[in-house]
Amino acid sequence: MKRLTAVLLALALLATLSCAPAEAAWTFTVSLTELQSDHAILVNRDHMLKESDKPGDLVAVPVKRASSSKIEMREVASQALEKMFEDASLVTAYTYRVQGSDGTWKEKQFSSEGGLRLVLKSGYRSYGTQKTTYNNYLARNNGVDDGISSPPGASEHQTGLACDVLSVDYNANNQYMNDSFYQTPEAQWMEENCYAYGFIVRYPADKEEITRVPYEPWHLRYVGREIAGYIKNSGLSLEEFTETWQAALAEFTAAGGDVDAQLLLESTRRANGFESTVLDVYGEDGDAEVSLSF
Ligand SMILES: [Zn+2]
Repeated sequence: MKRLTAVLLALALLATLSCAPAEAAWTFTVSLTELQSDHAILVNRDHMLKESDKPGDLVAVPVKRASSSKIEMREVASQALEKMFEDASLVTAYTYRVQGSDGTWKEKQFSSEGGLRLVLKSGYRSYGTQKTTYNNYLARNNGVDDGISSPPGASEHQTGLACDVLSVDYNANNQYMNDSFYQTPEAQWMEENCYAYGFIVRYPADKEEITRVPYEPWHLRYVGREIAGYIKNSGLSLEEFTETWQAALAEFTAAGGDVDAQLLLESTRRANGFESTVLDVYGEDGDAEVSLSF
């Protein structure tokens, strides 16, 4: 029955599309469904959340935590993070890089039967908690707002889609997080593989001028696997990505594209098992490899 409905929908859609001008096809790599989902949200100092904004589906994230307090995230992000932690624990050998005192980078081998050991430091933070976090940060930073801590409303942590992930060792040996975390196998493995779980490193080192947040190798943001794959391949920041897809959407509608018809077409395709983007083939080494096909 479900299949019949899907076929009928597809036929109805074809009839609609045959009347539409040919140039109005949605050709952007990422589906409109993903782009219009709430995990595509852009939050920064120009796109602030309201004090009352709180996700409705927060769950306690069932992974190793830096402290005994419960850490919550939206369900979809929590499940993805749980899977990432599990897979990281299976990575028993990994080549990473460390910087010597002369500034040069050298390869190093991580090897441990216990695998990479990740620990969750932070997840969802309410507007009120962020206010406290921000004020505490300012107090210990001589009142200087250097971008590391966001003012309330500007923090992605309020979406329930962002988290701070460290390695167990780094967390044990460092009171505060800074970019030295990058020199751990866990940070480099996450940077390489987190997109396969739908996460991006939200504040990359080479995008500080755009994000206006210093490099944070620990801050991961769930955007779903389609968007994460696109961002990984393109090297764009979330700000640039958002601008890019919004321009594509404006072009689409200007050419007579019908957003509702496109969303219906995509849901029909999904119902029939058609995926516009294929991600994450896990290699034997525990690394995820991306392949995109259309
Ligand atoms: Zn963070």
